[in-house]
Amino acid sequence: MMKKVITIVGGGTAGWMAATLINKVLNEENIQVQVNLVESPEISTIGVGEGSTPQLKNFFQQLGIAEYEWMKCCQATYKLGIKFSGWSSRAESDSYFHPFISQVDDQTAPAFFFNSQMRRKGADVIGHPDTFFLNSYLAKQGLSPIARNNFPFETAYGYHFDAGLLGQFLRDYAVKNAIKHIQTKVENVHLAHDGSIAYLETTKGELQSDIFIDCTGFNGLLIQKALKVPFIDFSDNLFNDSAVVLPTESLEKKPTYTGASTLKNGWLWSIPLRNRTGSGYVYSSQFTDSDLAETELRNSLGLIDSEIEARHIKMKVGRIQSHWYKNCLAVGLSQGFIEPLEATALHLVQETIQNFCAAYKAGNYTNQHQSRFNQVINNRFEGIRDYIVAHYRVNSRNDSEYWRANANNNHLSNNLVQILQTWMAGDNITQVLEQLKLSQYYASYSWHCLLAGYGIYPDSSQLLAPNEEASQHNIDEIKDFITRCSMNFLEHQEALDLS
Ligand SMILES: Cc1cc2nc3c(=O)[nH]c(=O)nc-3n(C[C@H](O)[C@H](O)[C@H](O)COP(=O)(O)OP(=O)(O)OC[C@H]3O[C@@H](n4cnc5c(N)ncnc54)[C@H](O)[C@@H]3O)c2cc1C
Repeated sequence: MMKKVITIVGGGTAGWMAATLINKVLNEENIQVQVNLVESPEISTIGVGEGSTPQLKNFFQQLGIAEYEWMKCCQATYKLGIKFSGWSSRAESDSYFHPFISQVDDQTAPAFFFNSQMRRKGADVIGHPDTFFLNSYLAKQGLSPIARNNFPFETAYGYHFDAGLLGQFLRDYAVKNAIKHIQTKVENVHLAHDGSIAYLETTKGELQSDIFIDCTGFNGLLIQKALKVPFIDFSDNLFNDSAVVLPTESLEKKPTYTGASTLKNGWLWSIPLRNRTGSGYVYSSQFTDSDLAETELRNSLGLIDSEIEARHIKMKVGRIQSHWYKNCLAVGLSQGFIEPLEATALHLVQETIQNFCAAYKAGNYTNQHQSRFNQVINNRFEGIRDYIVAHYRVNSRNDSEYWRANANNNHLSNNLVQILQTWMAGDNITQVLEQLKLSQYYASYSWHCLLAGYGIYPDSSQLLAPNEEASQHNIDEIKDFITRCSMNFLEHQEALDLS
């Protein structure tokens, strides 16, 4: 078979992840591909996107890159999950932790599921997620996910990192691995008679390719502008369309979690890196403007008189109808974005690349499996969207029009309506998630953490003392078990020094 040429346009995180992974996966299986990456030095990358899911660990493992090789030079820290603060005004629900899962949780999560169902049915038992998950305990104590050798259970974790440095690291790795880096601007995209991309016109000449990958960010130069693939806007139930970003000083004791705390018209992320803390206010321009948002951010960070310049970013929230169309695949912001709340964008980048490689190979390097691939990626976008929308829909803040509008918003998918109704009725949402095939996007434990973490239970005045069945799980034993497990884990700084 002739060597296939794959040309990626865009050198942001998505572009370099696509280049390195495709090069690895396709060349490893003896399918000879030449991967080129075209990047315009005039157009900067978005420069945010600094929190990951555990999927990023698999990415580095697939490339054969160890943590000590990349973490230090990308200022990376460990992430055990996300701490949500201020999303609910219900009693004892001002914060909760959404942990990445651990093998230890197999012992304790069933008790959480059981208790949360009992509490929904009116028994006064402990139903807050923070009691039941190892990573919540580790995060509270400032511990890392790295256990000493004698501890046999695995814990999932992600990372925080500097997006610019990660891009540079992957670029250097890519170039060492025979990926051609072409620094030029794509001026025009020329189409063939069948509507596919014929070639790219650049400042350095024409570029032809078997497959073109659009990693041009929100610009969507190939897939949206040239090929006119429709964009499906998510603003009917995801109101945030803007962000304002400020770096702050690094903390002496770096948390092992991302902070997500609410402000008046959105929420504030706090991402601890080794050399700084990244902070950004994600908000809706329907409810506030950029000046007010910046002032609110500065106030909340104690930086009202600081000279540090804030950066304002516009977000296009939604997805394209087809991620692979004709001979073009879109990866990254060009294919869509569901706002940063659960830091899922790079996760989607990886899923898209991996599914594409599998479908391309299975179809003998043709478009044979294109429509199935598009269905899979669209379902993934919609599955994640439902989970993110739920964070806004079930909020109980009543102090601004923004939060009230979110709580009253009834533009919900049928799937989300069914999950929420099942929860409110005190029934088993695990079964519903399985029936709807949604647990592959967010597992039942994540939904339990979200809904129980917001305290969506009967009012405490209506709860009754639990009977013998409802009180079958001994909470002190659970706490003791997890606390003793957590003693096996390294302090965050100790783990960072080793990585
Ligand atoms: C506020 C905010 C917070 C976020 N937080 C997270 C997070 O915590 N976790 C997470 O996973 N994701 C997050 N994301 C998403 C994340 O930033 C992106 O998914 C990631 O950075 C990938 O971006 P990209 O590579 O698609 O686009 P970009 O970084 O915008 O890169 C676009 C590239 O295309 C090139 N280009 C454009 N036009 C041309 C042209 N004509 N010719 C040649 N080259 C061209 C540019 O030079 C650039 O290299 C966040 C996004 C936003 C907006």
